[in-house]
Amino acid sequence: MIEQSKIHEIKGVGEKTEKLFAKLGIYTVGDLLRYYPRNYDVYEEAVPIAEVEDGRTVTVTGMIFGRVQVGGSRNLQVTTIHVKDLTGTIKAVWFRMPFLKNTLAGGGQITLRGRAVNRRDGLVLEHPEIFYPSEKYEEKLHTLQPIYNLTAGLTNNAISKAVKQVVESLDLTKEHLPEEIRLHYQLAEYNYAIRGIHFPEDKEVFYHARERLVFEEFLQFILAIRKLKDSNSRMDNEYVIPLDLRTEEFQKALPFELTGAQQNVWREIQQDMASEHAMSRLVQGDVGSGKTIVAVLALLNTALKGYQAAMMAPTEVLARQHYESITSLFEAYNIPIKVVLLTGSMTAKEKRRAYDRIECGLAKIIVGTHALIQDAVYYDNLALVVTDEQHRFGVKQRESFAKKGGVPHVLVMSATPIPRTLAIILYGDLDISVIDELPANRLPIKNCVVDTSYRQTAYTFMKKQIAEGRQCYIICPMVEESEAMEAENVTDYSRMLQEEMGTQIVVDHLHGKMKQAAKDEIMERFGRNEIQILVSTTVIEVGIDVPNATVMMIENAERFGLAQLHQLRGRVGRGKYQSYCIFMTGSKAKETKKRLEILNKTNDGFKIASEDLKLRGPGDLFGIRQSGLMDFGLGDIYQDAAILQKANEAAEWLLKNNPEYVQQIPDYEGTSSVII
Ligand code: ADP
Ligand code: MG
Repeated sequence: MIEQSKIHEIKGVGEKTEKLFAKLGIYTVGDLLRYYPRNYDVYEEAVPIAEVEDGRTVTVTGMIFGRVQVGGSRNLQVTTIHVKDLTGTIKAVWFRMPFLKNTLAGGGQITLRGRAVNRRDGLVLEHPEIFYPSEKYEEKLHTLQPIYNLTAGLTNNAISKAVKQVVESLDLTKEHLPEEIRLHYQLAEYNYAIRGIHFPEDKEVFYHARERLVFEEFLQFILAIRKLKDSNSRMDNEYVIPLDLRTEEFQKALPFELTGAQQNVWREIQQDMASEHAMSRLVQGDVGSGKTIVAVLALLNTALKGYQAAMMAPTEVLARQHYESITSLFEAYNIPIKVVLLTGSMTAKEKRRAYDRIECGLAKIIVGTHALIQDAVYYDNLALVVTDEQHRFGVKQRESFAKKGGVPHVLVMSATPIPRTLAIILYGDLDISVIDELPANRLPIKNCVVDTSYRQTAYTFMKKQIAEGRQCYIICPMVEESEAMEAENVTDYSRMLQEEMGTQIVVDHLHGKMKQAAKDEIMERFGRNEIQILVSTTVIEVGIDVPNATVMMIENAERFGLAQLHQLRGRVGRGKYQSYCIFMTGSKAKETKKRLEILNKTNDGFKIASEDLKLRGPGDLFGIRQSGLMDFGLGDIYQDAAILQKANEAAEWLLKNNPEYVQQIPDYEGTSSVII
């Protein structure tokens, strides 16, 4: 077997399983090796029974106390035992496993590992794994079992077995990193890292393995970007655009005054567009800081000087939202600039009309999705491209605009603040502006952290808000096992909630498995208040501005990274109404409260993420991503900021001292946010 071998060469992987693997994007043995676990199950030391908490997976060791009972109905036989240690007694139950009675009848010491659930008569371990006699647990102690993302029909065990086979039979001794780099940064060997990421013997092995793989991922990325940058150094300004008086008048006539930060950024943009070089600017501003109006000023100014300007958004909903707010602004201020919408879901006829208007130059401002860069679109004289919340705007995109004419100015808006040092590494040679001030008229969002017993009260509160004309979001619990189950979960939740809310209130849902068009339709209906409660996974995270929504309730808030919670919270508090964010937590309400206090102290996404990591300590690293900002396989730019710095340093060194290595790095094809 080699890395390029097809997956069916693995023993036990037949045609059917091959298809299931394909669903996960795994075609070759190499794909499987890079299919890293999304989490690990850790076999911890047993805890005293008195310390067992609701909702946690724990191990307890004690004596079987009293008789083994088999009860329940014929269809659902329940086997029950009680286990006692020096601190207390706990009940354990198994369903449909009456034969356990014989096994456990001998009594004596037993170790159980499972989830504790609060039932009517106290805490119960449901379906715990049995180690009997207790000594059997010692072999497992401290080991980590990989948990993979699954798809229906493919079990965790099946994936784990296939990976094990590959790891054992493949020659993994080939090293990808230059030896001098590996040694200098004390990184694990490839061989060790691959084994260690899938089957770590303990946490130390895991950290060491992960560090190496993240480093390599970052290094490849940085080198690929640097290669591109060299072939792409600062471009001349082909569209010199000074400030038009009418833009200034428009700005002065707005119903609000720009904040100081908005004014600064707007000034920087003006300078760029009138300078020697084409603009490449990133505008970072927290959620709700008012990035859109700054972009609108740039679009308008470009159009007033006779050029075209485009604004690209990641979703149809966001594109439509921008289109509508720009057209109504222009109408209100009598601005005779033609604005055109172009999205993938428009009919062929509508698109044709848009293409014609763009090509002949009638359309001055074009707002849309990725449809803006399809081959069929010919611009007349495109001088500015603004991308909003568009983390996937890459080099290729700029090139495809440039193919249609000169090199346009590029302005990128992002709500995910990262420190300048990191931004320079990740975005290359880009100028960065920061809007670090919120408009003054905002009412701060009221936050509360509650446990699940508060759920009914929360629903009642939502009914009240809806009666006043407002709308609500609910973010559903994440599901560990798979995205498919997550989708199911959201659907069920929304059905349940609809019953709860009655016929006067429309509840609908959104999840990552839905087609883009379906998602967009739901968002549009929500935007028009045809849906009052939107139940969703975190796909709702980016950009949406529905100022009428005032309640954000997040189930299982303790499972999210704080930076992500911050983004989610930013969906409310965008209008003139008082908004509320309800963080619903499981058993760890106290800890969560402490973590969430950070959210009240600062609005700086990066600070939030790093404080969060500090608080939880390195023991809790896996499983929680701070942000989905860039699609690295393992690396997380917040969590792994230190590794990123090192990889950057290594990249500098390699560029100087090992050009052969740099040469063989594959060209950048990715979709991460690279702007050149
Ligand atoms: P984001 O930066 O998250 O994209 P938006 O640009 O959508 O935020 O702005 C959020 C809301 O704030 C909009 O409704 C916008 O009209 C309003 N807004 C923008 N700038 C100001 C300001 N200087 N004063 C008051 N409201 C503003
Ligand atoms: Mg925005």
